[in-house]
Amino acid sequence: MLILSQSDTLYITNIYLFIELLFVCFVHIFCDFLHIIYSIILFTVIYLIKEETAISKFRIYIVIIAILLLIISFFVYLKNSISSHTSHTEVLLGTVVNISVYGEDSKQAVDEAFDIIRDMESKMSINIKDSEVNRINDNAGLAAVKVSYDTFEVVKQSIEYSVISDGGFDITIAPVVELWGIGTENERVPLQNEIDTVLDKVDYRDIELNNPYIKLKYKDMKIDLGAIAKGYTADKIYERLKDMNIDNAVIDIGGNISLIGSKSDKQPYDIGIQDPFKKRGLHFGKILLEDKTIVTSGTYERFFEKNSVKYHHIISPYDGYPIDNSIESVTIVSVDSTAADGLSTALFSMGIETALEAIEGIEETECIIVDSNKNIYLSSGIADFRITNDEFRLAE
Ligand code: ADP
Ligand code: MG
Repeated sequence: MLILSQSDTLYITNIYLFIELLFVCFVHIFCDFLHIIYSIILFTVIYLIKEETAISKFRIYIVIIAILLLIISFFVYLKNSISSHTSHTEVLLGTVVNISVYGEDSKQAVDEAFDIIRDMESKMSINIKDSEVNRINDNAGLAAVKVSYDTFEVVKQSIEYSVISDGGFDITIAPVVELWGIGTENERVPLQNEIDTVLDKVDYRDIELNNPYIKLKYKDMKIDLGAIAKGYTADKIYERLKDMNIDNAVIDIGGNISLIGSKSDKQPYDIGIQDPFKKRGLHFGKILLEDKTIVTSGTYERFFEKNSVKYHHIISPYDGYPIDNSIESVTIVSVDSTAADGLSTALFSMGIETALEAIEGIEETECIIVDSNKNIYLSSGIADFRITNDEFRLAE
């Protein structure tokens, strides 16, 4: 029979306390301050209720190590809590932008992200008088304008989406968008002859690219990068933050979302997809994603109603009216946010069947389409998607 001496019992008790303390310290380094206080109290209570009061050298060492560990864990906690998460929201690019960064240097990363957004806005916004886009528009039919790498790239890629969508996506739609004024105080249903006049100016094939110059061939032509600039900006931020070794971030430019890595607890993000029939913030489904971008274009974004007819902001370059093809929203999941933004609008213009066919030919890019009867169409590679509103159903 094994009989434990008092020093054996003391040894086992101390080892037990030591292991328990190691465990709570390392777990609680990643938890909050209250948990650390709780561990100290727990440790003290367990220690005091033990019957052995003999002061052994061994016990003193244990206590010293334990206290040191607690101090270290407290400072690691403090450091983490100071630098681990920075989030900032601001209205830019005509929408609400939120950037959340986790990890060291998060403050600097968020500052740099907003610098990038301001830079892109100053180049591509149609609402900033001397932006590069407005200089291109002001010189339509007159002169080629020298532009930055970014503006050139966005215009070049826009033309690719025009080709894919057979002209349904077209940044030269600007004069028609202006006429409708959707989302502005001048929104109205224009007269047919007004539409006909401006529609004449819409054709992406009349954009002349000669790196780094861009020229619009005819007077009164105008481009509007609103359907793609947010995606490009998200990609620029993604690349910059990756260069800064940021492993966890959410870049949300008005619902155009890019994710760096997974959540800080290593779980994928569970992203809600906007219900196109409801106001912002209500979703019909959710999808688990990490290190991906997700972008939705829909009739709910900007619209007005007149005589019970809904007029939304994605305009057909074919007839100059809001596109009416039973699609309510198109969501693109991809690794490239410029592509996701461009394609969400381009696929919207294509109609369900053509859109589903086109997406299968584009690598690492998937789509979720909702029609006006709340049917959901998924491309073949959509994974980890679930419906959260039972009024919606997967299309047969
Ligand atoms: P949002 O910018 O609201 O997320 P989209 O990415 O779909 O939505 O872009 C819509 C914007 O693009 C419109 O507000 C308008 O400025 C512009 N636009 C409208 N129709 C078209 C079109 N057919 N092709 C390209 N851009 C368009
Ligand atoms: Mg878009």
